[in-house]
Amino acid sequence: MITSWSALQSQPTVARIVMNSLERNRIAHAYLLDGMKGTGKKEVSYLFAKSLLCKNRNGVNPCLTCSNCKRIDSRNHPDVHVVEPDGNSIKKQQIQFLQEEFSKTGLESKRKIYIIEHADKMTINAANSLLKFLEEPNQETFAFLLTENVNLMLNTIISRCQPLSFRALTSEGLVEKLVAEGISLPLAKSAAALTNSLEEAVELCRDDWFALARSLVIKLYEAIFTRPKASLLLIQEKWMPHFSERKQLEIGLDLMLYIYKDMLYAQLAKEEQMVFVDERERIQKLALQTTQQRVTEHLSYILQSKSRLASNVNPHLLMEHLALNLQEGY
Ligand SMILES: [Zn+2]
Repeated sequence: MITSWSALQSQPTVARIVMNSLERNRIAHAYLLDGMKGTGKKEVSYLFAKSLLCKNRNGVNPCLTCSNCKRIDSRNHPDVHVVEPDGNSIKKQQIQFLQEEFSKTGLESKRKIYIIEHADKMTINAANSLLKFLEEPNQETFAFLLTENVNLMLNTIISRCQPLSFRALTSEGLVEKLVAEGISLPLAKSAAALTNSLEEAVELCRDDWFALARSLVIKLYEAIFTRPKASLLLIQEKWMPHFSERKQLEIGLDLMLYIYKDMLYAQLAKEEQMVFVDERERIQKLALQTTQQRVTEHLSYILQSKSRLASNVNPHLLMEHLALNLQEGY
């Protein structure tokens, strides 16, 4: 949970815009929070709601201890309504229900807030209903529309909202957040190489499958260099059962790509960019035994395998073929 606007370091632009409008008491009636999953849109909308309803606001920041702040945190403030997709879409009835609720005066204060998650999932009818609502803003009504796909939203809605664009987390920022959550640096770096969504990365790191996938990649990498015959056995006995689905195999190939890239970083003396930080010494040692050109060729073999995976090729044959290609010249 973000506790103050100055603590929102991952989104400095958003923090600045919001602090500015709170300071000058010029709050828009509707905000459109757009950005990738995991960038903090939901946390920001709740912090904003607290800043608007807090009974003892301290400058722009909510006190977090008054009854309003506490009820917003526990998601049961009567004047803060949250709309989420019902199944795959947000339906007209959900927006109409919201409008009925808002036609009543605020239960506790005059201010009322609504937060629409995945606002791009509104049906056309729902969006048109909301549009009427946005066109006749009540002085004390505030809307937060959250979306990961602003391109799917109606321009007429977008134009009535003040935009708050959330930037994607940098890879370093993501690793920092993961480590703060208690995840080990090597695991955090591997997850951050695969996604820039915080939620997805946390999910990966908390899944034993991912830690085992990572160690299998290291084993296969090592076998290819030092015990070529063992690599085919490893693929058959350990790799294929673990990466049994295509999506899993894709992650396996991505991790292979990163361990070979690490070899290139070792050759270029850019170790700070390495993903497999716990294997640094071994990778440096193997990197000395080969050339940059060879590593680049190997990277292209892995990329080719990734694209062949998308067509209907036998995954076991694909892996054997890749291992043989990677062994060339050793
Ligand atoms: Zn408060």
